[in-house]
Amino acid sequence: MSSIRQYNPGDVIIQQGDEGDTAYIIEKGNVEIVIENEQGTVQIGTRGPQSLIGEMAMVDAQPRVATVRALDDCELLEIDRNDFERRLSGSDPLVRHFMQVILTRYRDTLSRIEHTGANKPTKTDVRPEDIEKSDSLHEEATQAIRDSHELVHAISEDQIVLFYQPIISVKDGSIAGFEGLARWIHPEKGLISPGHFIPLAEESGLIREMTYKNLYEACSLLPEINELFGDGQRPFMSVNFSSQMFAEPDLVNIISDILKKHKSDPSQFKLEITETLLMEHPEEGRKALAQCREKGMQVAVDDFGVGYSSLGYLNSYPIDTLKIDRSFVSSMMEHDLSLGLVKAIVGLSKTFGLKTVAEGVEQEQEVKILHGLGVDYIQGFLYAKPMPLAELKKFIGAWAPPKHDE
Ligand code: C2E
Ligand code: CA
Ligand code: CA
Repeated sequence: MSSIRQYNPGDVIIQQGDEGDTAYIIEKGNVEIVIENEQGTVQIGTRGPQSLIGEMAMVDAQPRVATVRALDDCELLEIDRNDFERRLSGSDPLVRHFMQVILTRYRDTLSRIEHTGANKPTKTDVRPEDIEKSDSLHEEATQAIRDSHELVHAISEDQIVLFYQPIISVKDGSIAGFEGLARWIHPEKGLISPGHFIPLAEESGLIREMTYKNLYEACSLLPEINELFGDGQRPFMSVNFSSQMFAEPDLVNIISDILKKHKSDPSQFKLEITETLLMEHPEEGRKALAQCREKGMQVAVDDFGVGYSSLGYLNSYPIDTLKIDRSFVSSMMEHDLSLGLVKAIVGLSKTFGLKTVAEGVEQEQEVKILHGLGVDYIQGFLYAKPMPLAELKKFIGAWAPPKHDE
């Protein structure tokens, strides 16, 4: 995990020959870099605030090629290889490839200096605009590391919890299921919405751990919820899965282990995926979803209609539900185009034998239209906002199906 460390003048930060799995960004102070070779000690140079040192450790566990020593009081931001790899695994394959090639070439150059005692690389002229650019890049990079550090802490301290939003059946007004939505209960900043931290979790690779924790939490309360419903009723529980989760070969086994552990019925569990998955991991996605289906789980496509993937996948992917994006539902009363889209999605669902959920329903009038169109389920503030578990239990106990005059 990345963290900040202090060094006193003369302290060795990196020792030539040692194995290392950490790189550093200098936040404060200066360091010197020296290489011992057959000719003696070669001073490679000094580095000050904002410099990156020890970055070769991000490539492999080869021995350090140089020694780095603090020249004065230093404050260094540590970046460990696991953290780096997690971030890299979430990035574009081209970026990963470039990173690997550039770092490997750089390692070659440094090894040549070490073995031949060649002079330190010549200094090139640095233009002021380049410094400014690197300042802002440095700022962004260190901020990203600090933020993910905070998120790692939040996950381990259970500050990320699920709120649950009921999803109502249009046919009889009963509660058909729930969607688990992540919230960060920050000790100082209060409630942070997922729009702020999910992208950070995706970028840093922390989404994996967070999703499994969410899943664990959602599954653990199913037996209790079933009891509240009584009469053998089995509402579904939806959990959101970012597309990068599907790069994980063991995903389905991990999900089914969690379900088994809580003696939860897989048919009560619904994965919410987005069309992005079908574009980013088409094959892994297809395979994983087929395995989920085999085990009895359900699959919903979230935010349907906003993506730009081909509709062909509706035929070839094991999908049960389409969730009509809020943007169409909330504008369908004013814009014929949106209404047309909602109608088209419902028609498409019927053709493919899928269920539909209309998202973001806030008005009674919208329910009437959706009812008329044959939408199966409604999710929206009209009936309930996402709420913590304690409130959800009260909500279930007090729920009376709404009456619609047709
Ligand atoms: P989403 O999956 O489309 O979730 C529905 C969002 O619409 C939720 O926002 C919910 O609070 C909001 N919503 C529901 N009904 C209404 C309504 O009537 N009016 C309005 N204005 N909004 C409504 P939220 O909770 O802020 O979540 C935002 C997004 O963050 C989610 O969109 C989902 O993409 C992502 N997200 C949330 N939790 C998780 C998670 O555990 N994992 C992943 N990967 N993504 C998550
Ligand atoms: Ca969702
Ligand atoms: Ca959605």
